[in-house]
Amino acid sequence: MIWFIKLLIVFLVWTFITYWLYRLAHVKNKFNILYRFHAAHHEVNYFKGGEKFGIAYLLFYFGDIRVTADVLLTITLPLIVLTIFYPSQGLVLLAFHYLHEVFLSERLLDHNPKINGRITNYFAWGRYHLEHHRNPKNNYSAFITVWDKVFKTQKLTKPDRCSPNAKPV
Ligand SMILES: [Zn+2]
Ligand SMILES: [Zn+2]
Repeated sequence: MIWFIKLLIVFLVWTFITYWLYRLAHVKNKFNILYRFHAAHHEVNYFKGGEKFGIAYLLFYFGDIRVTADVLLTITLPLIVLTIFYPSQGLVLLAFHYLHEVFLSERLLDHNPKINGRITNYFAWGRYHLEHHRNPKNNYSAFITVWDKVFKTQKLTKPDRCSPNAKPV
């Protein structure tokens, strides 16, 4: 039981750190390396289906060095640090992170416009995350929407208004 409580806490801390790194990645500054990497994510046209799964995904390479660096710095690195302190929970979450990024993130969950409605109140999937591509000042949360709720950056609107190439500012 304590193991699962720890898992939940590590997951919440991880998503909290990722939320703030994402926000930092939207601060336009030539010295902000996170901004430069994250900008590549906003260059992908997710309203036409996003990136196709490639075999390189299995090696955790997402077709572009900046897109890959964005994932590594804002999502993977904080989880590796947490894994040093909570090894068993961290390893489970690293496995989840790998499977999510490689198989689910692009078209199936995060950028799938067919996912809409109540579920997006809780999970940062589909139209919820696509709203971030329309207006990058909203919906920074990854996986769960709780931190957008807490820090009042949550917005739910129609994805068909989304601009495919919004800059992360
Ligand atoms: Zn996205
Ligand atoms: Zn963004």
